[in-house]
Amino acid sequence: MQDRRLCVLNAGSSSLKFAVFGAGDDALPRLQSGEIERIGSEGRMQVAASDGKVLHDRMVTTKDHAAALSLLAELPDGPLDKRGLIGFGHRVVHGGPDMAAPVLVDSVTLAKIEALEPLAPLHNPPAVAVLKALSDLFAGLPHVACFDTGFHRGHPPVADRFAIPDALYREGVRRYGFHGLSYEYIGGALAERVPDIALGRVVVAHLGSGASMCALAGGRSIDSSMGFTALDGLPMGTRSGSLDAGVILWLQQQKGWDVGRVERFLYADCGLKGLSGVSNDMRTLLASSAPLAKLAVDYFVYHVARTAGALAAALGGIDGMVFTAGIGERSPEIRSRVLHRLRWLGFSIDEAANQSGGPLLTRADSALPAYAIPTDEELVIARHTRAMVQGTQ
Ligand code: ADP
Repeated sequence: MQDRRLCVLNAGSSSLKFAVFGAGDDALPRLQSGEIERIGSEGRMQVAASDGKVLHDRMVTTKDHAAALSLLAELPDGPLDKRGLIGFGHRVVHGGPDMAAPVLVDSVTLAKIEALEPLAPLHNPPAVAVLKALSDLFAGLPHVACFDTGFHRGHPPVADRFAIPDALYREGVRRYGFHGLSYEYIGGALAERVPDIALGRVVVAHLGSGASMCALAGGRSIDSSMGFTALDGLPMGTRSGSLDAGVILWLQQQKGWDVGRVERFLYADCGLKGLSGVSNDMRTLLASSAPLAKLAVDYFVYHVARTAGALAAALGGIDGMVFTAGIGERSPEIRSRVLHRLRWLGFSIDEAANQSGGPLLTRADSALPAYAIPTDEELVIARHTRAMVQGTQ
C-alpha cells in the first residue's frame, strides 16, 4: 500500500471507525475499512479490504481512543501504515455556528471543536482525542475536519431558530441539524441517478442508531428534524428524540435528578431502548413479541411518517423520498410501514422491489418515487479531505 492514500476517521463515544481511500485516483477507491469497538474495555478490532477479505479480526483491550490508534498504527499494511499516507479526514459532529465548510485543523480550530463538546457530548470529545493523538503519532500530516452540522447552515431563520430571545440565538442556541455528511452524499447520489428528482423537493430519512430526517430543496438542506443537539427529533436507539422541555424540569424538580443524571438518561436510556425495555437494536425489536418492543417499533414508524409530513409542509410539497443508514437501507418492514402511512402523500410501494432493496421502492404508477440508497459519509469526507490537502500542496 505505497500509493497515495487518505485515512478517514469517525470517532464514536466507545468506537472508532476508519476507512482508507486511494487518493491518486479521481474515483477515490475504498481500499480498507474497519472498526475498533468497545474502546475503554475489551472489544473487537476488525479491518477488511475493499473486496470484503478480512485482514485483521481479534479481540483487543484499549483504554482510550489514543490507545486504539496506537494499536492500528502497529498493524502491517494497516489503515495507519505511514507509507503513502497524505492526510486524515475526520467526522466532527458539531461545528457550531461558525464552522460549516471543512477546515484544515490547527490549534485554533481544535480549540473551537473542543469548546463545542457540551453540544455533542458523545461525539466531539472522542473526535478531539483522535485529532490530538494522531497529531502526536503523525506530526506534519494535514487533518481535515468535516462537520455534520455544516450542510444545514443555510436554513432559513424560521428553521434555524427556537422561539427564545435573540440574545441566546447569538450565543449559539440554534437548530443546527446533524447527519449533514450523509445528506450531502444522498443529494449527490440522487443528482447522479435521478437528476429531475434531485432538483426537486426530497425528504431524506437517515435511520440508524442515531436517526434524523432532512428536507432537501434542489439538493440543499432547508430543514432538519434535529436541532441544538443530536437529541432532538426522531426517537433513536438510546436517545429520546423530541421531548417536551417540561419533562426535563419535572425530572429535576420532582425526582431531584442532577444535570449529569439527566444527560446520561436522555442520551443512553431513552429512545427504542427506554420505551421497549428490551433493546436499542431495531432487529431485536422486530423479532421480539414483547408488547413494549412492538410499541417501540410502532412509535418509531409513526414519528418517521409524522416528520415526513412536517418536512413536506416545510418544502411546500414533495417530489420524492429516500431511506438510508442501517434501518433505512436494510429494513424492508420499516420502509413498508412508513410508506403505507404516507400513501396520502402519493407513495405506492412495490413490495417486491422493497424486499429486494430497491433502489426504487415504489410502483411505476406511484405518484411519487421513494428510494433506498446506502449512504457513504466516509467518501464525502475523503472527497473534502483530498480537495483540501491538494490545495495545501
Ligand atoms: P450508526 O452508524 O448510527 O451506529 P447504523 O446506521 O449502523 O447506525 O444503524 C444501526 C441500526 O440499524 C440498528 O438499530 C440496527 O438494528 C439496524 N439494522 C441493521 N440491519 C438491520 C436489518 N436488517 N433490519 C432492521 N434493522 C437493521
